[in-house]
This record gives sequence, structure tokens and C-alpha cells, in this order.
Amino acid sequence: MKTDKKILICGGGIAGPACAYWLHRYGYSVVIAEKATSFRDGGQNVDIKGAGQQVIKMMGLAEAIEARNTLEQGQKYLDAAGKLVATFPKGALGTLTSDFEILRGDFARVLFDATKDNCEYRMGTFVTHLEDKDTGMVATFANGDVEAFELVICAEGMSSSLRKLVLAEQTRFRYLGANMAFFKIPRRPEDDNWAWTVNSVGGTFITLRPGNDTETTVLITFLRKDHDIAGENTAARKELLIVPCRLPASSTGSPPVSWSKRLTKMEQLSPTAHIAPRVRTATVH
Ligand SMILES: Cc1cc2nc3c(=O)[nH]c(=O)nc-3n(C[C@H](O)[C@H](O)[C@H](O)COP(=O)(O)OP(=O)(O)OC[C@H]3O[C@@H](n4cnc5c(N)ncnc54)[C@H](O)[C@@H]3O)c2cc1C
Repeated sequence: MKTDKKILICGGGIAGPACAYWLHRYGYSVVIAEKATSFRDGGQNVDIKGAGQQVIKMMGLAEAIEARNTLEQGQKYLDAAGKLVATFPKGALGTLTSDFEILRGDFARVLFDATKDNCEYRMGTFVTHLEDKDTGMVATFANGDVEAFELVICAEGMSSSLRKLVLAEQTRFRYLGANMAFFKIPRRPEDDNWAWTVNSVGGTFITLRPGNDTETTVLITFLRKDHDIAGENTAARKELLIVPCRLPASSTGSPPVSWSKRLTKMEQLSPTAHIAPRVRTATVH
């Protein structure tokens, strides 16, 4: 099928390029408007499961994903004292680890590479006004350009301004009482290819996972009644993590001992630590 129809996708993360891939394959001309001025390669471990795996295979991208696999073997649970209480190898019921384990940035790169030659990426721009006309959707971009499209698809992730523009009444966030922090720490020679998880005292959940050759990824979830107390202040956000990072000392010499030391050294957080947008957990209704 070949058509002159032009479609605008707002957001060049995961959903945007994946959608662009298929629309192009069905003969559409696709423009992707991405707010960020350059490709966003941030993010932690993504477990591509179920239908996601099928779609990746149908897109012919399984090999590219496999080449960037973090090689995670499975997940081990420790108690707060560092004693191993459960092991879930890859494929076992309840494990995080799937066949397709990849860092979000690598995943986004695979999708970008699969679409960049056939779809038009416009970086550093976003839609400020959208009008539904008989001839199609008329979009006004941040630089003042006005352009008509057959269809506009919003793939802007959680903090979408277009969604607010179009569905202002339907978009609400609700705080769930938990904060989540995602960041990377330097990988050490003794870091293996297992995901190590501790359910610590007070509802704190910490997981260390293999990242790339130089980095180990960290996820910390901890409960707090209040939210947004750190605002946009990065130092204050790091402060928030100090208490949940203090794990009880272990006598076994297994990872929690080193975690405690490593995680309390907040200066070790990478300068690009991805705490900020992930600190609040929210649902969209
Ligand atoms: C840098 C980054 C790191 C992430 N890390 C993780 C992670 O570690 N673990 C996890 O589970 N999820 C992570 N996510 C979220 C995860 O990618 C998405 O929740 C999920 O994959 C769905 O993808 P998405 O394309 O809907 O959203 P996203 O991947 O969030 O992509 C949305 C894209 O839209 C862009 N955008 C936002 N507003 C506009 C606008 N107004 N106009 C144009 N473009 C806009 C954003 O810059 C982004 O590139 C991360 C997202 C980003 C952007």
C-alpha cells in the first residue's frame, strides 16, 4: 500500500518510533516531533516480555536487541541481613528477567536506528496548538510553523503536554505513597550478571542489576507519606535516598554489605542520575 497521507507522531521515545516503524511499513509518510534537542539515551533495565517480544520479532529487531542484551541471568532475593532467601533464574515464574533484557537507552537506539532513514525526525520541537479541521489535524509547532497532518499520535510519555492540551480534563496524577529512584553506579569486578534484590526494613526495596560494561543499575523504592518535598533540587533528591540506602550490615559478605557502602556514598551517583522524573509514582486516569 502506498499513500500520500502524512502522520505526525509526537514523542521519539519507545512508543513513537515503534509506531512510526509500522506506519511507514504500511505506506504512510511519518514525521516524529521530539521535544528533546538530541536523542535521549537514558534509562535502566527494560524487560521486554510477552507481546513485546512478539512485536520485536515481527519488526525483525530480535538480533539487534540480543546484541545489546545485559545478559542478566535471573534474580536473587536477600533478606535484610544479606542472607539469600530465593533464586529465580531467567524464565522462572516471578523473576524480573526475560529473554530480552536491554537498557532503555539501547532499546530506544535500536528503534531509532530502525526508523531514522525512513521517517523524518524533528528534534527540539513540540506541538503548542492542535486544531481538528475537515482537511485533517492542523498542528502549530513551538517555532510557529503550522502544518496539516492526516492524523496526530501522542507518544510523549508520562509528562505529555499535548495530552494536557487535548485531554486536560481526563489527565490526573495520584500519588501512591512510594518514591522510586533509578540511577547507575560504577560496576565492580565482583558484580555478577544476577539481579540482586533486598526487601529491607520499612518497605524499602532495592535492586542492583547488570547494566553495561562499566555501570551497574540501581532501583530504590521507598515509602513516604509526602511527595515533591525535594522539588527540582537534585542535591535534595539525593538526600532523600540516604536513609533507605542504609541497610543493616550483613555477616555473610554477600552483596548487601558492599551495597550499603556503595549506595550511601551519594557522590557516586552518576552526574546523569535519573532520579528526578522517577521519584514520584503516579497513575493516569
Ligand atoms: C530518558 C528516559 C528514561 C527512562 N527510563 C526508564 C527506566 O529506566 N525504566 C522504565 O521502566 N521506564 C523508563 N522510562 C519510561 C519508559 O521509556 C516509558 O514509560 C515506556 O517505555 C513507554 O514509552 P513511551 O514512548 O510511551 O514514553 P517515553 O519513553 O517516556 O518517551 C516519550 C518521549 O516523548 C518526548 N516528549 C515529551 N513531551 C513531549 C512533547 N510535548 N513533544 C514532543 N516530544 C515530547 C520525551 O522527551 C520522550 O523522548 C524512561 C523514559 C525516558 C524518556
